[in-house]
Amino acid sequence: MTSKAAIFTPKQLAIGSIIVAVLVLGLKYLAYAMTNSVGLYSDALESIVNLAASIAVAIAIWLRDKPADHNHPYGHDKAEYISAVLEGVLIVLAAVAIFMEASEALLHPRALDIPVLGLGLNALAGVLNGGWAMVLIRLGRKMRSPALVADGKHLFTDVISSLGILVGIVIALVSGLNWLDPLLALLVAILILWTGWGLIRNSLGGLMDEAVDEEELEHIQQVITDHAHGAIEAHDLRTRHAGRITFIEFHLVVPSNMTVFSAHEICDKIEDGLEAAISSAHVVIHIEPEDKAHEPNADGSMVI
Ligand code: ZN
Ligand code: ZN
Repeated sequence: MTSKAAIFTPKQLAIGSIIVAVLVLGLKYLAYAMTNSVGLYSDALESIVNLAASIAVAIAIWLRDKPADHNHPYGHDKAEYISAVLEGVLIVLAAVAIFMEASEALLHPRALDIPVLGLGLNALAGVLNGGWAMVLIRLGRKMRSPALVADGKHLFTDVISSLGILVGIVIALVSGLNWLDPLLALLVAILILWTGWGLIRNSLGGLMDEAVDEEELEHIQQVITDHAHGAIEAHDLRTRHAGRITFIEFHLVVPSNMTVFSAHEICDKIEDGLEAAISSAHVVIHIEPEDKAHEPNADGSMVI
């Protein structure tokens, strides 16, 4: 997969999502048209939502690739989070729809009609969706693209729900217990709700300028320490993500009589170190004289 990351650009992946969504929609509609099954009809309708979502992802990727401009000097990367929140909301709505459908079926058990051909076409669409979902999640993570990962997770929940419906029908057929089908659907809905919630939470975290996680923070502190020879300490370290970009800013305390030239040289070394260690790091350093130093750390480490 490593080589593939270089072959596909995020833009191509986003366009690929639209193509897959159109194919899946066609297959699912065909499945409905051949069988007239209401269940397959609602499944096909859901694919229209997927198509809309994949278009939103393409717009988000196109937006984030626009260079920083006068109006958005920090770039447009957060567009990805907005599309990821949208995906999360769509996933939650799908879970609610399954919930309502399943509880209705639990309260008023109905005989199953089994359109074998429709189920087969539907399964084919599921395989297509599942394969593409895995490509999106894997490459999206590698490219640190929240929008592509979210789209992959969205597709994956669709596959799980289709699979759940299929398994439910088979189990109900074999056992003759019609309530097993909606019960399984309820379980699927809970699983999907969980995925949607996780996606919304993560994307809102990005929109709210959540700090990098503990592990990455320690890494950043270590890189600063390793490249700050000549400085006294670093404090007020603040971090945040905007999609693939990591913003890092802090105060660097240097000896009061150090020249601006030397202090700037230390800054350049730290910046080079951070940019080499962390992909797409944007670093801002504020220089301060000795009397601005904080209480030193007990372990004597550079970053306070
Ligand atoms: Zn300070
Ligand atoms: Zn400079």
